[in-house]
Amino acid sequence: MDFIDLKAQQRRIKGQLDKNIQRVLEHGSYIMGPEVKELENKLASYVGVQHAVACASGTDALLMALMACDIGPGDAVFTTPFTFISTAEVISLLGATPVFVDIDPATYNIDPAKLSSAITALRANDPALYPLPKAPSSPPAGEGKGEGVHLRPRCVIPVDLFGLPADYDAITSIARDNGLFIIEDAAQSLGAEYKEKKAGSLGDIGCTSFFPAKPLGAYGDGGMCFTDDDTIAAVLDSIRVHGKGSNKYENTRIGINGRLDTLQAAVLLAKFDIFADEVERRQIVSQRYTTLLSPPSSPRVPSVPPGARSVWAQYSLLAKNEGQRAKIMDRLKAEGIPSVIYYPQIGRAHV
Ligand SMILES: *Cc1c(COP(=O)(O)O)cnc(C)c1O
Repeated sequence: MDFIDLKAQQRRIKGQLDKNIQRVLEHGSYIMGPEVKELENKLASYVGVQHAVACASGTDALLMALMACDIGPGDAVFTTPFTFISTAEVISLLGATPVFVDIDPATYNIDPAKLSSAITALRANDPALYPLPKAPSSPPAGEGKGEGVHLRPRCVIPVDLFGLPADYDAITSIARDNGLFIIEDAAQSLGAEYKEKKAGSLGDIGCTSFFPAKPLGAYGDGGMCFTDDDTIAAVLDSIRVHGKGSNKYENTRIGINGRLDTLQAAVLLAKFDIFADEVERRQIVSQRYTTLLSPPSSPRVPSVPPGARSVWAQYSLLAKNEGQRAKIMDRLKAEGIPSVIYYPQIGRAHV
């Protein structure tokens, strides 16, 4: 019982898939072959941005985006706690501090009003205004004397959870007022829309994932950064290959090995041919769920705000309590419909 039926999808694209893979086996450019650039061009134009930089995973896309913004120790990065670990992990990995901002319960995405409060609290260093992290992951040299934690507000990473874009009009206006960079975590939302714009184009940098179960999935790991900014695109391109300069043995900054495999690009090109059609079909299926699940049957169905279009990476139900949740999951299972808890809280780390 697969959560996403990749076998049925494969039957639809088998001919093109085989052709694309065969082409890679023939030219043999397994690293940064022509399929990578072709995919970047197609997706940049689909998302509606100037530049796309393919990379090894959605996590690397987020990491490269933060590195391109020069995020590090002493920097506060606002994000939502309701997400996959990657979003916060990459912030900590760079020595910056995640500042968690609660969600809007109607959409499950970061609440712009609370983002505003969290920025104010951070600037005033007053956790009475909004809960703040107790200590930065690594205090900046010469700052944070005594118990005061002096973090610089630098960036916000909204997550388009379950495929629904966050409220970017409100987020952008707050970010511009406060000099924050916006990195859109579009790992789940490629194909979604917000006010006629495509997910991936809604921040200064958009980051998506090609993990097999994502709306556009490869047959392995993959990811991509999107931006309209020429300078950022060039920096991302450099970070992706060990901070390369004019060639890969001239290293002008610290980077990573973050390339997308040519074979995955070839797979994604075959899948992209039917992607727009799949996105349309997801609308029909989700509409059917919503109609059939609507009251009085009572788990809460997702609401999509006006002007937004979800790509339904997941169709989520909110149960009243754990008892109701268990019953719903049992019923679904009996009908052969897979369901999982997004995201389970499995105890707490003892540190
Ligand atoms: C899947 C996911 C990621 C990470 O993508 P990978 O390709 O698995 O590294 C990041 N953020 C969110 C919200 C995700 O769902």
